[in-house]
Amino acid sequence: MNAQLIQFAYLASAVLLIVGMRNLGSPKTAPRGNLIAAAGLLVAVVATLLVQGVVSYGTILAGIVVGSAIGVVLATRIQMTAMPQMVALLNGFGGGASALVASAELLSYVRVGEEPTGIVPLAIVLGVLIGGLTFTGSLVAFAKLQELVSGAAVVYPGQQFVNGLLALITLGLGAAMVMNPLGLDPYFGMVALALLLGVLLVIPIGGADMPVVISLLNSYSGLAACATGFVLGNAGLVISGSLVGASGIILTKIMCDAMNRSLGNVLFGAFGAVDQTVSAGASGGEQRTAKGYTPEDAAVIFSNARSCIIVPGYGMAVAQAQHAVRELSDLLESKDISVKFAIHPVAGRMPGHMNVLLAEADVPYENLVEMDQINSEFPETDVALVIGANDVVNPDARTDKGSPIYGMPILDVDRAQHVFVIKRSMNPGFAGVQNPLFFNDNTMMIFGDAKGVALKLVEAVRDLS
Ligand code: NDP
Repeated sequence: MNAQLIQFAYLASAVLLIVGMRNLGSPKTAPRGNLIAAAGLLVAVVATLLVQGVVSYGTILAGIVVGSAIGVVLATRIQMTAMPQMVALLNGFGGGASALVASAELLSYVRVGEEPTGIVPLAIVLGVLIGGLTFTGSLVAFAKLQELVSGAAVVYPGQQFVNGLLALITLGLGAAMVMNPLGLDPYFGMVALALLLGVLLVIPIGGADMPVVISLLNSYSGLAACATGFVLGNAGLVISGSLVGASGIILTKIMCDAMNRSLGNVLFGAFGAVDQTVSAGASGGEQRTAKGYTPEDAAVIFSNARSCIIVPGYGMAVAQAQHAVRELSDLLESKDISVKFAIHPVAGRMPGHMNVLLAEADVPYENLVEMDQINSEFPETDVALVIGANDVVNPDARTDKGSPIYGMPILDVDRAQHVFVIKRSMNPGFAGVQNPLFFNDNTMMIFGDAKGVALKLVEAVRDLS
C-alpha cells in the first residue's frame, strides 16, 4: 500500500488518540473518549497490517483471536477494586512486547550481518532495557496488589547502592551495544540485568504506593513502545508510545501531589516497610471511644438537615454500594436536602475510581465536586456522610507532623455540623493509621457494610416521613 497513505493513517490515528484522551478528562465525555481512542488504535492496527512483509496474516490472526479471547474474559470478570493490578499486567505485557520486538529486530540485523545505523541502535537498547524492566517490575506490582506476595516494602542494608551499581552496569552494557550493535554478549547481559532491575526496583516499594508505581510503569511502557517505534520506523508507534509515556508521568505527578509526597519519596522512601499496624497518631496517647449509632439515629438528624455532602471512599467500592448510595441521595433530595458528592483525587485505589463508580450508578455529574471546590462548604453543611473512606478524611494529615500522611490534602469533613461515618470496624485504611475523626464529638459511627447501611438509611429516612 502507498507509503504516504500509511503515514497519513498514522497521523489520523494520533489525532483520534489525542481527541479521545481529551474527552477522557470528564466523566460525561469519557465513554465517547474511549470509543474515539479505540477507533484511533484500530486505524493504526489496520494501517500496520497493510504494510507488506511484516509477518504472515495467519500468525497475526491467531494472535488476535487468542489475545482478544483472554482480553474479553479478563475485562468482563475484573472487579473495579482490582483494576490497578489489571493495569499493571497490561503495562507489563506492553513493556515485554516492546522488548521482544526490539530484540527480534536486532536479531534480524545480526542474521544478515548488517549493522543498524542512525538512531536505531540506541532505540533498540532503550526498547529492550525499558521494556524488560517494565515487564518484571509490573509483574511484581501485580503480585503485591493481588496479594500473591506480601505487599510490605522489602528493604535491606545497602539496597540503593546495589540497585545504583546494577543500573550503572546495565547502562554500560547498553552503551557497549550502541557502539557495537551486532555484539550479542552485551545484549544478553543487558536483558538479564534489566529484568532483574525491574524486580529489585519495585520490591522496596510498599503495597500502599503500588498504584503510583503502576502509573509510572505505564509511562515506561509507553517510552519502550516509542523507542521500538524508532526501531521499526513506525510513526504510529512513536506517537502512541509518547502519548502513553507523557500521560503516565502526568498521572504519576497528580497522584504524588494528592498524597503530598515526592516521586523520589514514593520510589525510595520504602513507605510500608514500617509497621503497618495502627499507628496511634496525635490522638493516640489518650484512650478515647468512638460512638456507635444506628441508621435510625442518623435518620433523625437527616429530618432536620438542609444540606449533605457524601464522601465516598474505597469501602464504598468494595461493598459495591454506589447504587444504594444513589438511592439515598435521590431520597434526600426529594426531601429538599441538597446533596453533593465530594471527590478526593486519590479516594479508592486509582485516580477517578469514585467518579467511575458513581457514573455507573447514574449520579449526575454536576453533583460531583472536586476537593478544592468543596472544602470551603463543609462548615456550612449539616451532614457530612463518609461512606467507606478513611485516609482521605483524616484530620491528622493537617495537624500531626508525625503522621505518615501528614501534608496529604484531605476533605475537611470534620468541619461539618454532623459527621456520619459508615465502615465495618475501627480498622485503619490504606495508610495503616488511626483516624481521630472517628472520636470527635460531632462524629457518629454507623458500623456495618457500606451497602447494607446505605439501604437501611434509605428505609429509616423513608420511615420517618
Ligand atoms: P482507605 O483505604 O483509607 O479506607 C477505606 C475504608 O473503607 C477502610 O477504613 C475500611 O474500614 C472501609 N471498608 C472496607 N470495606 C468496607 C465495606 N465493605 N463497607 C464499609 N466500609 C468498608 O480509603 P480512602 O478512599 O479514604 O483512601 C484511599 C487511600 O488509598 C489513601 O491512603 C490513598 O493515598 C491511597 N492510594 C490511592 C490511590 C488512588 O489513585 N486512588 C493511589 C495510591 C494510594 P473497615 O475495614 O473498618 O470497614
